Amino acid sequence: MLEVKNLSAAYGQHPALNKASVRVGKGEIVVILGANGAGKSTLLKSISGICEGTVTGSIVMNGHELVGMKPDRIVEEGVSLVPEGRGIFGDLTVEENLTLGAYAHRAKDAERTNLDRVYTLFPKLEERRRQVARTMSGGEQQMVAIGRAMMSNPSILTLDEPSLGLSPLLSKELFQSLKTVRATGIGILLVEQNAKASLAIADRGYLLENTEIIHEDTGEKLARDPAVQKAYLGGAASKTGSGRAVADRGAMPAPSAPRPTTGPSPADIAAQAVEGVAPSRAPTPAPASAVPQAPQAPPPAPPSAPPPRPAAAPSAPKAPAPASPAGIDTASLVDKAREMSTRRGATVPRSPTPLAQQTPRRAPSTPMPELSDHGDRMRAVLEEIETAAARACDRSRSRRARKP
Ligand code: ATP
Repeated sequence: MLEVKNLSAAYGQHPALNKASVRVGKGEIVVILGANGAGKSTLLKSISGICEGTVTGSIVMNGHELVGMKPDRIVEEGVSLVPEGRGIFGDLTVEENLTLGAYAHRAKDAERTNLDRVYTLFPKLEERRRQVARTMSGGEQQMVAIGRAMMSNPSILTLDEPSLGLSPLLSKELFQSLKTVRATGIGILLVEQNAKASLAIADRGYLLENTEIIHEDTGEKLARDPAVQKAYLGGAASKTGSGRAVADRGAMPAPSAPRPTTGPSPADIAAQAVEGVAPSRAPTPAPASAVPQAPQAPPPAPPSAPPPRPAAAPSAPKAPAPASPAGIDTASLVDKAREMSTRRGATVPRSPTPLAQQTPRRAPSTPMPELSDHGDRMRAVLEEIETAAARACDRSRSRRARKP
């Protein structure tokens, strides 16, 4: 159903994924194991069309090529992401969060059915449907995030480290829930640090190391593989039968792809971020039909520069949206969520991520200043910071040199 072939991704000159090939079938749980920095999130973000880097290769979903497609179109193709950190809107109720996930056209007609399906899968969410999401436990919030992704009626659900920050008991509940989701026929692509629990429910798995897929097998065989045990399960085995190179560590291998040491300096990146919030870029007009629309794809990055963040969609016109079958006015809900996810007072362009996948930020109590007016000042401040840091370095070097 989902076929990723020779997928590569790079942030500027820094490769993060190299010719990765992965497939996920209907009703299958596929896990991606890998050390920090191996490229796992990049893989999921590329599949969802939200990777900030340059993506090449092929991602085919039911015969349609997803590379180059806008994130909201990818949701329409049936691929939905549960991002790392959940990304739910804490000040909205459980049901409001779920309803936001039904913004895809493919989900609109079946919103009530999907909501019922989510409530059947996660009865606790129905019990707590009027509860403000931030007051839920970590595990319950993760259920809200999964439930929201399921409201888009996906055929493939991708999840980025869903057990992160959960207690062992809540993690166990979460992995049980994923089995229930699989039973509905949805294919699941799961990135996890909890190798033991994820392999226990996985049909198949891939090892991603240093930007490359180095091995694929059934979940059962991977769990028994001495090299996997050693690298990911804290086992004592030391030699891999297949001779694969796996980092020599306990629970997880050493980070395999550190952030680039060459490339743009922090000041360059910060300065670019300042440019990124300047309203000089012409916003792409959003189609009137959808409120949380994605923008056009960003222009390709020059080889030596860090990639620009994609240009963003402007506020969509406020079309009078009908109340959802759940009795919720979705248009005002989207406005409410947007208010919480952007800085008040700043003309910050919207992220290309479909709203349901965005991580909300709490609005500060005082309005943010208009950053674009202060771009030059910020650059100057950055220079001052860099100069001060260089001076501090010099001082400590000369102090060390003076010591007998
Ligand atoms: P983790 O388990 O720590 O989340 P990961 O396997 O998900 O790691 P990625 O987040 O995909 O790894 O990152 C892969 C590489 O790409 C890393 O070296 C990381 O530093 C780099 N990287 C990720 N996002 C960006 C970005 N937006 N700009 C520049 N480099 C990035």
